[in-house]
Amino acid sequence: MNDHTPEVPLFMRKLSGSAPSVNKTDLTPLAVASMIKECDELIAKLETWKAKAEPTPPVTQPATVTPKRWTFTLAEIEEAAEDSCGFCLACGAINSCCEPDARRYPCESCEAKRVYGTDELAMMGRIV
Ligand SMILES: [Zn+2]
Repeated sequence: MNDHTPEVPLFMRKLSGSAPSVNKTDLTPLAVASMIKECDELIAKLETWKAKAEPTPPVTQPATVTPKRWTFTLAEIEEAAEDSCGFCLACGAINSCCEPDARRYPCESCEAKRVYGTDELAMMGRIV
């Protein structure tokens, strides 16, 4: 058995009998204070290890991300209808050159085939 395990303070090895035994008369107040200091240092080290071992909690994103658009106001739909535009139900982007009855057109913005014309959106109950 190796007596020189670096992580274990000398006084602990002495007390556990793995190092040359300590005479009880050696436990002067100064020696005890030194042991306490060693203990504190060990605890601090353990806390550091513990902090390193614990996974960092995931950073929660603040709710500032623009929510996906599933519904549109009547004004938005009317404006889109006038300009022959439709809306993408995947990303919410307005798409031009979109017939009112268009369904599953590819989105100019996100390329998802989820662009619907204004009539379709109305029938789907997407107007609020
Ligand atoms: Zn899109």
